[in-house]
Amino acid sequence: MKRKISILGSTGSIGRQALEVIEKLNDKFEIIALTGGRNITLLNEQIKKFKPKYAYAENPKDIEGAKYATLEDICSNTENDIILVAVSGKIGLKPTLTAINNGIDIALANKETLVMAGEIVMPLAKTKGVKIIPVDSEHCAIHQCIKDITMVDRLIITASGGPFLRKSIEDMKNATVEQALAHPRWNMGKKITVDSATLMNKGLEVIEAHHLFGMDYDRINVVVHPQSIVHSAIEYIDGSVIAQLGLPSMHIPIQYAITYPERFEGIKSRSFSFSEIARLDFEEPDWDKFKALRIAYDAGKIGGSATVCLNAANEEAVYAFLEGRIKLFDIINIVEDTMANHKVIKNPSIEEIFDIDNEIRIKTKEKFISKV
Ligand code: MG
Repeated sequence: MKRKISILGSTGSIGRQALEVIEKLNDKFEIIALTGGRNITLLNEQIKKFKPKYAYAENPKDIEGAKYATLEDICSNTENDIILVAVSGKIGLKPTLTAINNGIDIALANKETLVMAGEIVMPLAKTKGVKIIPVDSEHCAIHQCIKDITMVDRLIITASGGPFLRKSIEDMKNATVEQALAHPRWNMGKKITVDSATLMNKGLEVIEAHHLFGMDYDRINVVVHPQSIVHSAIEYIDGSVIAQLGLPSMHIPIQYAITYPERFEGIKSRSFSFSEIARLDFEEPDWDKFKALRIAYDAGKIGGSATVCLNAANEEAVYAFLEGRIKLFDIINIVEDTMANHKVIKNPSIEEIFDIDNEIRIKTKEKFISKV
């Protein structure tokens, strides 16, 4: 039987790669819906090729060859066995909750869902018996390593270190947008690439891991691993360490997430060779240079609206950096200042989360970015 899938964000980096996986496994999947933002040409090409029943675009009139449906419609359609949430930003949160409420499994590639509302999303998924399968390479690695979570002592998340790993703090402070976007290992969207340069991305991943695997923050470690071959690891209580390795390609975690618990050859292009890779290096992160990591840990430990604040302030600051309005290091200072001025709300509702998110974005833009 074919697995019925919808992809939210099919024209983005993860969405496009997911369709490449599905193309290879075309007898395994039936696409219910595809959604795009402004890249209508690509969305319509995808509709023509993959023939979904439904599609969403900002302007319904742009869609050719499929029925228009909103993200909410798509996520309430129980024809779906699984929904790949590959949109970026807070737009992913509400549709994900709708899908969970309708008992549809989630392949999750949207960071905001757990960073903003992990305290709501994970318990709801548990109540509804819904699987949340992570797409992010680190969480996918941990998901593959864990057999019995109660026996796991600690999670070890790897970080490539980004383009500034071997640069000084001074170099990083004066970095251009081009330098920040030159990621040595992964080819990703602009926002996440800047987050990878500051290591804020790793901080957000620590928060996601805390929610996904129910692990305390002091039992989640980050280790810098420049080759990006070990995608993450876990240590069991008896000291046994299980790591997941593979070439740095997002096709592998995407395929794992949408075919779980089955495995197929699918997109695999070549065999893994230890001798070709030859060496794997690991080191402690530089906590001064990558202050963002510490700030994210602190926000996670505080919980409640602190991670909403962290995410919103960071996102606005990253956009300001990409527009050339602030320097790379300003991003982290802005986030730190915004966090220091935020009055934390414990157990915020979804509505409160969206209100806080809006408020922080406005405050960040007005109070800090304009002054830099
Ligand atoms: Mg990642």
